[in-house]
Amino acid sequence: MVSMDTDLVRVLGPKTAKLMADQLQLRTVRDLLRHYPRRYARRGEMSRLDDLQVGDRVTVLAQVKSVSTRRMQQRRGTLTEVTVGDGAGSMRLVFFNNRHAHLDVGEWGLFAGTVGLWRGDKQFSHPDCHIITGDDDDWARALVPIYPASKDVSSWVVQKSVKLLLDDRHSLEALLDDPIPAAVRDRHGLPSLATALVYKHRPESAAQVEFADERLKWDEALVLQCTLAARRRAAALEPGIERPRRSGGLLDAVDAALPFSLTEGQREVGEELAAELARVQPMNRLLQGEVGSGKTVVALRAMAQVVDAGGQAALLAPTEVLAAQHARSLSAILGPLARAGELDGDPAGTRVVLLTGSQKAAVRREARAAVADGSAGIVVGTHALLQEGVEFADLGLVVVDEQHRFGVEQRDALRAKGARPPHVLVMTATPIPRTVAMTVYGDLETSTLRQLPAGRGGVSSSVVPVKDKPAWLDRAWARVREEVAAGRQAYVVCPRIGDLEEAATDDDGPDDADGAPPEDAGTSDRRPPLAVLDVAEGLRSGPLSALRVEVLHGRMPPEEKEARMRAFAAGEVDVLVATTVVEVGVDVPNATVMVVMDADRFGVSQLHQLRGRVARGQHAGLCLLVTEASSSSATGQRLAAVAGTTDGFELARLDLETRREGDVLGAAQSGRRSNVKLLSLLDDETLIAEARAEATALVETGGGLADHPELAAAVAALAMDERADYLEKA
Ligand code: ADP
Ligand code: MG
Repeated sequence: MVSMDTDLVRVLGPKTAKLMADQLQLRTVRDLLRHYPRRYARRGEMSRLDDLQVGDRVTVLAQVKSVSTRRMQQRRGTLTEVTVGDGAGSMRLVFFNNRHAHLDVGEWGLFAGTVGLWRGDKQFSHPDCHIITGDDDDWARALVPIYPASKDVSSWVVQKSVKLLLDDRHSLEALLDDPIPAAVRDRHGLPSLATALVYKHRPESAAQVEFADERLKWDEALVLQCTLAARRRAAALEPGIERPRRSGGLLDAVDAALPFSLTEGQREVGEELAAELARVQPMNRLLQGEVGSGKTVVALRAMAQVVDAGGQAALLAPTEVLAAQHARSLSAILGPLARAGELDGDPAGTRVVLLTGSQKAAVRREARAAVADGSAGIVVGTHALLQEGVEFADLGLVVVDEQHRFGVEQRDALRAKGARPPHVLVMTATPIPRTVAMTVYGDLETSTLRQLPAGRGGVSSSVVPVKDKPAWLDRAWARVREEVAAGRQAYVVCPRIGDLEEAATDDDGPDDADGAPPEDAGTSDRRPPLAVLDVAEGLRSGPLSALRVEVLHGRMPPEEKEARMRAFAAGEVDVLVATTVVEVGVDVPNATVMVVMDADRFGVSQLHQLRGRVARGQHAGLCLLVTEASSSSATGQRLAAVAGTTDGFELARLDLETRREGDVLGAAQSGRRSNVKLLSLLDDETLIAEARAEATALVETGGGLADHPELAAAVAALAMDERADYLEKA
């Protein structure tokens, strides 16, 4: 009996099965049936022989006109020459060593290859051949499936192998355990898995492909959403500790100390968090918001509530610069409230402690002790917080800032630091499309801050196309000089550091989770990206020679980085030339200009995030995107789009368009990525939302997934993939 898990060896024979396993990673019946056509060749759209260009990779449908085989003179072996014609033209095919020497005149076939030239005539050299035999209805099909193929497994071989499995429709229905429960299929008008696979692999019409796609996307979405729903449910079932609001404590003091009133959004989200923290069921929430919308204050207020309730709060930041800045600004807002136990401290307050990997051993030991004995109510740190040996007295809330640099595993590691699961608040750097929220962050509930605090100067952005308009770059530096003359400060961001260690890993270069430059940005024939050290040198000896120019990058010693950042914040530096270390969360309200060199090397979200570093105070900001790309190129247009809007949600969508799904999902897990072949985060929002609702219901009613063994098996298989991926990385 053949099942989905049957090894292909038993169905296809050892030779084909081995090639498929080695070259296409197809091992089981399931793998092969889920190896979908990449596209379909339509007979009407097949290339005509009179219409071929040398170098084209094409498929033609043609009839064999002549076949002749002879011994080669220069080398050993034989050469077979075949002439084929399609009525419009003819073409020569050549094969070596008797391959296809058996072709018969009059046969029709599909021939795929790259058009070459031989003595002035077009020819295919050893093309893929698929001869259409009498009992083969393939040629009569309107749509011929074209599969992802490899060197020795052509599309035809895949097609034939799939056909072998699909031909026996009766046993197919028995063989395929449908992971989508019948009730769900009925509600959404979806065909059975067997029907969908037949339609996908051997369609009679484009409508059948569409029908199949809808159903097969549901498979992907439902399995993913069930995984997430199960995770949400498991988290909800494990009780945490309630941290209800208490008046007269740190939170009230924070509110009294804030130099501004909260925006409506901050207040609403604040209420939402306050209510969830007061419950035993741990909060698991994603806070997304526009750059500069004031997420930090929202987090601080939640932390204060937890401290008031006797617990500790940890704030996890992606870089040392950001962790240090958070510790600094939290301490500043809290004032004496952050120094409980010290001489000038307020006994009603707590302590804010910084914990990073680069701290001196003695400092770190002291910090750890304060974390362990509970005197530090607010602990700010980097990955160092996740390490063994960091013990909390009573961890009540974990806040993860700028989540895109953290994986689910890291969140879990921190969660495990509480005696009972702590509440978790994850904050994203920039807005994310709804589909991304539902998949990559799908185990979290979502809150959104749409509004910016009133009285912001706003940022205006322009592209500076140095190839098209060289004079504009001079103008850009003149603007920097003007702003500095008016008392403001500027950032100049470059993609690269430019020191000797560059070849080694660059810990502050664009990361792949967010804003990796799109594919067209990184072709190797371009000059290397501009570097911080070179640009700073050029500015000091050139257009900005009268200003105080300093550099900041990830490979400077931490104390130096910290000192540089502090000097910039204090206004002792006019222009900071930096890598993307300033990308996330750095907050210097007096900085009003951001010049991004080689802006085309950055992703859309990253540029938006960078731009968020200026105009954080009452002064209007200016962002200049310097690029060598011409304004008419795709890259130039992408930059123009960034310059043209400050709506982060719109840009998030644009960002999604320029990146591949795998990159987005890859930020989470590769298991999740390989599960998603057809589903599009750009186009399938409705489907994903419906699948999420169904998944939640399936997981939470009756016996949960146990009532649906096929679906449970698929969910378990995905979890295995993710786990394997995690272990591989660890
Ligand atoms: P982000 O959401 O990008 O992390 P931040 O939390 O860093 O933004 O806040 C950006 C700036 O806005 C900070 O300087 C912060 O003090 C300020 N801010 C936050 N909330 C308000 C508010 N309600 N009114 C005025 N300024 C605010
Ligand atoms: Mg922030």
